[in-house]
Parts: sequence; C-alpha cells; structure tokens
Amino acid sequence: MMNTENILRKENLSKEEIIYLLKLEGEDLNKLFLKSKEIKEKYIGKKVHFRGLIEFSNYCSKDCSYCGIRKSNSNVERYNISDSNIIKAAEYAYNENYGSIVLQSGEISSDKFTNRITSLLKEVKSISDNELGITISLGEQSAETYKKWFDAGAHRFLLRIESSNKDLYYKIHPNDKQHNFEKRIACLHSLKEIGYQTGTGVMVGLPFQTYEDLANDILFMKELDIDMCGMGPYIEHEDTPLYKHKDSLMPLDQRFKLSLKMIAILRIVMKDINIAAATALQAIDKMGREKAVKIGANIIMPNITPGMYRNNYNLYQNKPCVDEEPEECKGCLDARMNIANATIGYGEWGDSPHFKRRN
Ligand code: SAM
Repeated sequence: MMNTENILRKENLSKEEIIYLLKLEGEDLNKLFLKSKEIKEKYIGKKVHFRGLIEFSNYCSKDCSYCGIRKSNSNVERYNISDSNIIKAAEYAYNENYGSIVLQSGEISSDKFTNRITSLLKEVKSISDNELGITISLGEQSAETYKKWFDAGAHRFLLRIESSNKDLYYKIHPNDKQHNFEKRIACLHSLKEIGYQTGTGVMVGLPFQTYEDLANDILFMKELDIDMCGMGPYIEHEDTPLYKHKDSLMPLDQRFKLSLKMIAILRIVMKDINIAAATALQAIDKMGREKAVKIGANIIMPNITPGMYRNNYNLYQNKPCVDEEPEECKGCLDARMNIANATIGYGEWGDSPHFKRRN
C-alpha cells in the first residue's frame, strides 16, 4: 500500500508514486504542498525573480492545434512591435530593476529574423550596461541560430515540449515536418550543448492527457536534466482545432489544481531548478501565481509588452492583464509577492542554481 508520508520521504520517485501524488486531495494534498514549500525554501530560499515578458510579435509559421496565435487563425490581428519599442520595454525593465527580460514571439525561422534578434540582444545588453539578463523563447531554430543568439547575449532559453508523450504530441499538433516531436527534443539537447540554461515544460489538462502522461512528463524533465521549467494549465481557445474537445476537459479549477500539483512534485524531484509561475495560472485564479510561488515556483514573468498589443497575443481565453499598462502590473505584483510570503530579488538575474551546480 502506498502512503503519502512514506513517498514524501523518498529520494527518488517512481512513475507510480508520482501518479499517486497527482491524485492526492484534502489533508494529504496539504502534506505534498508543505513538502514542496520546505524544499523550495531549503534549496532556493524565499526570493522570487522577475523576468519582464515582452511578447513582441504574434506572427507564427506554426499551426499548433491549441494555440490562439497559430498561423491559420485569421481572426487574430497580427502585430510586430518595432525594435525601438522593444528596446523601450527593455529599458523599462532595467529602470524598474527587474534584473531580466524574456523575449517571446511566434515561431519564425529566417535569416532576417535571426539577424533581427541578434541585433536586439546586443542592443538590450548595451542599453543596460550588460546588466539585464535575457531569456528567449523563440521556438525551434537551427543550432547555428541558437549559437548566434547565445553569443549575442541570451543565456536562458525556454522551449516547452508541450507533452513528452509522442502520441499525445501528435494529437495536439499537425503530424508533419514542421511539427516534429524528435526535432523539438533535438532542439532542447542543442540548447544545452551550446550552454544555455535550458527550460522546458508542458500544458496540464490537455484533452486525451492521462495521469501517467503527466508523471512521464516529470520524469522526462528529470532525465533531460533541465535547468528551468515553465508549465501551466491548458486553456481552450475557440479559434483552434482543439476547441472541439472542450467538453471532454476537466473543469478549469481542476486543471489549476493539477498544475499546482505538477509544480509541487517537480520541485520535490528537481530541487534546485527555476520554476516559473505561469501566467495561465492567473487566467484561472486571480491569485494563481501567488499560490504557485507559495508551493514551489520562484520565477514570475510580469508582462511588460506595451498595452496596445497585448490583446492580440491571446494564446488562450481570459488571458490576464491584457488591458493594463506595465506600470499597473508592477504595482500589483509587489503587493502580490508579499502575500505569497516571498521577497523580490530586484536587480538580480536569479539564474538557475541547478545550472550553476551542473557546470
Ligand atoms: N513560439 C515559441 C515556442 O513555441 O516555444 C514561444 C511562443 S508559444 C505561443 C508559448 C507557449 O504558449 C507554448 O509553449 C504553449 O505551451 C503556450 N500555449 C499556447 N497555447 C496555449 C493554450 N491554449 N493554453 C495554455 N498554454 C498555451
């Protein structure tokens, strides 16, 4: 018979034990959250680090079946923020002492795009006296492109595997050359080899997803020995093919709770990695990110994309803060982190302790 306390005392968790933890409720679930909180405080401390998120373009060459900015969605108004406005947003993050930014967009692969990002990265470094840390999340690219961007100043990369189950992967992506599961894994290896702090993650509560899939996702991240993770609930979007499965989904509050369990278990399995409190958590529960920070997450990504563009980066429904300007977001975040019993590491990169240890 499995027992929560015994499992939580173990050094290595088996797939069956992770599935058991994913199904916990009530008092036993509190024990899981208490354990992940303890581990976070021991290995990471109480500090949360900011990554000012700049979603600079929603043009995308891919057609992921869950994503509101997929290429085939003609209902979305496309935008591409000018370089000078991206730099202004980075200056904002620098002046506000955020420590780091994230540059994210739809996936575009071209020499023009590669060169544009290379110059933007150099510019961000230059306007901040090399002080701003830079995470990028720009999809699958060649090893040469990843290397160029690394040399230009990006040092962390987030590329979610979305699901580590190949069958499920092809249920949520077209099965074609452009959406190849092995290529996505190869990209993650290439990022690690180049020297990036490498992050991945999954969506939680996808149609067809099982507890076993989620347990395997955790073990996949452990096996890949990632440095960072960003994962959160799947939220349906009506302009996507996956929307037709909306009636088979678990209710949003359960997807939310399951995402928190995934964060807690990952914290127990990978004690010293950076774990982001995904924005999608806040789309379901107004205190979603704070709840994630309480039980294991240590990274927050305040959205500093200029307000007028935010509405059009709607990956899913009810995306939070789409109507706010960055300043308003910051004000609310200070208070929010206090509630989560966390202090903010202003002006620090907040690199993954795991990355430092494995190097
Ligand atoms: N193009 C880059 C990439 O593929 O990594 C970055 C942009 S992509 C829009 C960022 C993330 O949004 C994806 O990795 C995916 O997990 C998440 N996302 C997209 N649609 C979503 C949805 N309906 N619900 C929750 N997350 C979603």
